[in-house]
Amino acid sequence: MLSCTMNNRKLKEIFNKEHFRGEVRFDEPMSAHTSLRIGGPAEVMAFPEDPVSLKNILLSANREQIPVFVFGGGTNLLVQDGGIEGLVISLKAFNRIDFARETDDKKAVLFAGAGAMLSSLISFSQKNGLAGIEALAGIPGYLGGAVYMNAGSFGVEIKDVLVCIAVMDMNGEISILNKDQLNFSYRSSNLPESLMILSANIALNRDNPDDISKRIKEFLQRKRDTQPLGDSSAGCVFKNPEGNAAGRLIDAAGCKGMRIGNVEVSAVHANYFINKGGAACRDFIELMDKVKVRVRKHSGVILEPEIKIVGKKN
Ligand SMILES: Cc1cc2nc3c(=O)[nH]c(=O)nc-3n(C[C@H](O)[C@H](O)[C@H](O)COP(=O)(O)OP(=O)(O)OC[C@H]3O[C@@H](n4cnc5c(N)ncnc54)[C@H](O)[C@@H]3O)c2cc1C
Repeated sequence: MLSCTMNNRKLKEIFNKEHFRGEVRFDEPMSAHTSLRIGGPAEVMAFPEDPVSLKNILLSANREQIPVFVFGGGTNLLVQDGGIEGLVISLKAFNRIDFARETDDKKAVLFAGAGAMLSSLISFSQKNGLAGIEALAGIPGYLGGAVYMNAGSFGVEIKDVLVCIAVMDMNGEISILNKDQLNFSYRSSNLPESLMILSANIALNRDNPDDISKRIKEFLQRKRDTQPLGDSSAGCVFKNPEGNAAGRLIDAAGCKGMRIGNVEVSAVHANYFINKGGAACRDFIELMDKVKVRVRKHSGVILEPEIKIVGKKN
């Protein structure tokens, strides 16, 4: 990441609203945008309303060598206490969901913007009698984040239904990438950081809306029974190692309820760390390190983070 050391006035000059539509905020606390409620300020946060505005913002950032970070729903992110240098882009206005193709009486392809909530896509699909993503119900965040992370649950991953994505590079050029160009793996799309997902097409199977609704409810209930969905978290902190569950390993190592500052290992699901109120990122990271050490001592397994840690220390 390039370092941005410009003062606020200069940044305000660069990102003045002459060339794009959408809001721009300066020194925006990321804790207001992450599900963990943790994170120092972004120097600039922009909310472009259309692809041309996005392109113009990116060109301005490029010209001035300002680093760019694309933000989804902030539900898988741990932002450091020193905040994010440069420009954070939110594509929340890119939230259209529509039919791309009504292929036949068995299948249909949907188009959805990167800023569409995954839950809205699931609900649109259900209403239109389209099945395939019910198991993802309860995963918060946007479609762009879900594709980037290859989000999944109960054996279904977003890659299973993905056809292609539209991406923009840092020069504002748009291209289409098919699913097989993305090298998806467990919780990863291998998408280069220089590309931003604008939209995705997904293929779903026709089914009875009531049956789909029933399955969504069942999956949601299973999540509510096993995960602390009401607490401030970023979902699973560590990836599940091959053939094992990180939560089980953390629990077996006696880490449930461990606490540093205001961050606690959930008593409900040990792979969820909870912000009990006003927590600092440094405490979260220290707790991650302690849990890793204990699990390694107990089972010999080295846990890898699933959450993305971004920004700079205080
Ligand atoms: C209560 C809870 C439950 C969860 N349950 C699950 C679960 O069951 N399964 C699961 O897989 N995850 C789960 N998660 C984690 C998280 O919700 C998913 O990973 C989600 O898909 C992240 O989407 P987001 O929009 O919030 O992405 P963010 O957290 O905002 O970003 C994640 C990464 O994606 C990148 N990104 C975001 N948008 C784009 C874009 N448009 N173009 C390029 N890159 C982009 C970001 O740069 C970042 O690196 C859970 C989280 C919580 C809080």
